[in-house]
Amino acid sequence: MPRYEFRCRECGDTFELSRPMSASSDPATCPGGHTDTVKLLTTLGMTGRGGSAPAPAGGGGGGGCCGGGCCG
Ligand SMILES: [Zn+2]
Repeated sequence: MPRYEFRCRECGDTFELSRPMSASSDPATCPGGHTDTVKLLTTLGMTGRGGSAPAPAGGGGGGGCCGGGCCG
């Protein structure tokens, strides 16, 4: 069952709920009892949150040979 993350706009808390996809758009209630909540975007199938690998710097070449004195 997918997990959905919600954020309460009353107390600012974030919480997760496991619910079927058919109920993904149903309103959620904050653990504090508030009903003014918004659903956050979640990345299904990924563990952890906010973890994205940094893109490699483009055009650098790399290798470390040139500049080390072995290329010329
Ligand atoms: Zn709340």
